[in-house]
Amino acid sequence: MNIPSDTGHGHHDHFVCLKCGKVTEVFDPKLESIRDELLCRKYRFKGVRHTLDIKGYCADCR
Ligand SMILES: [Zn+2]
Ligand SMILES: [Zn+2]
Repeated sequence: MNIPSDTGHGHHDHFVCLKCGKVTEVFDPKLESIRDELLCRKYRFKGVRHTLDIKGYCADCR
């Protein structure tokens, strides 16, 4: 049984281009801090994992 985990290797979020559909994988500690206590504590929620798609336009489509 393979349980996907976002806590180690392999986790990333996405930039999704609304024009050409290109998906860019991104990993940034600032994004990852979403699951950290600041936000979760505010909502009294224990965050474990997330997926994040940032929609917009890639460098070629702007
Ligand atoms: Zn594009
Ligand atoms: Zn993430």
